[in-house]
Amino acid sequence: MGTVVTWFRDHEEDRPLHAALVAALPEERVVTAAGLLAEGNAASADVAVVTAPTPGALAPFTGLRLIQSLWAGVDKLLTDGDLPPGATIARLVDPDMAVSMAETVVAHVLAIHKDHPHYARAQADGLWDPRPTPNASERRIGFLGLGHLSKAAATRLAPFGFPIAGWSRSGAPVTGVTVHTGRDGLLALVAQSDILVNLLPLTPETTGIVDATLLAAMKPDAALVNLGRGAHVVEEDLLAALDAGRPAEAVLDVFRTEPLPAGHPFWTHPRVRVFPHVAARTSKETAIALAAAAVRRLRAGQPARDVVERGRGY
Ligand code: NAP
Repeated sequence: MGTVVTWFRDHEEDRPLHAALVAALPEERVVTAAGLLAEGNAASADVAVVTAPTPGALAPFTGLRLIQSLWAGVDKLLTDGDLPPGATIARLVDPDMAVSMAETVVAHVLAIHKDHPHYARAQADGLWDPRPTPNASERRIGFLGLGHLSKAAATRLAPFGFPIAGWSRSGAPVTGVTVHTGRDGLLALVAQSDILVNLLPLTPETTGIVDATLLAAMKPDAALVNLGRGAHVVEEDLLAALDAGRPAEAVLDVFRTEPLPAGHPFWTHPRVRVFPHVAARTSKETAIALAAAAVRRLRAGQPARDVVERGRGY
């Protein structure tokens, strides 16, 4: 038996997580960060299970060997410069979340492919305005990031017949996907894509990557679907690009400030569809089961899975 410390937000969706972890790990002592600090026992914890701790919150837990995130994106966690340096950081790689994200990507791609945004605007204007639809084989899909979530989405898009390409750091091959790398590869992918789907992690290298230069490289009729993080997109640049007609549409699930503030121009822009960060939610049940399995692997002396490389930021 060891001691597992938890740090969850005092937030509606985080509140049941601690009790669920206690139930999933009966062989462990599972204590909240505040509880362990109050005992004066912070150094006894060797595992932390967390969502997005406030910076510095994990610093007193100097004995941590594993910090297991319950989120797929660890950008908030990694902004903490005081994480115990010896701890391995692992993120959530949840097959159920990948299915959910793949459904979201298929839904947005098919809606754009079938011109739903155009017909929504036409209906609002009382216009009967049919447009020709190209075949799926003529609609090129580009993924920014070819990780766990993009691969799941590409697998489910492929049967429709869309040509699929993507951009990654390593250029590792992905079945059925043309892979690009580097800055030239990025601009080549963007220039050829009819629907560009962002599923990058937020790192120092990818912050603000969707800027005026990248947007100017898009096809005039193209659509941007941002499902990664809001800070990937320079919002002012996107608004200017949409007003200039390139890209033609933007579907945004994530924003620099969430909830998207009242009065933000995205709310009413005719070329923007706003979704409230719902592309793929963490399921409490699977997240807790995966965290419990990670603790048991540690106790069995097995290597951690889905380890984050602190230096590269994902
Ligand atoms: P992942 O498996 O870590 O994949 C990340 C991909 O991005 C990899 O292909 C990686 O390249 C590529 N990449 C990273 N930095 C790069 C760079 N500088 N240049 C080029 N490529 C780069 O991540 P994932 O599980 O697919 O998740 C992706 C992101 O989705 C998460 O970080 C999170 O922000 C977001 N997300 C959003 C929601 C939502 O509801 N909207 C839900 C879950 C996750 P390599 O293949 O070479 O490593």
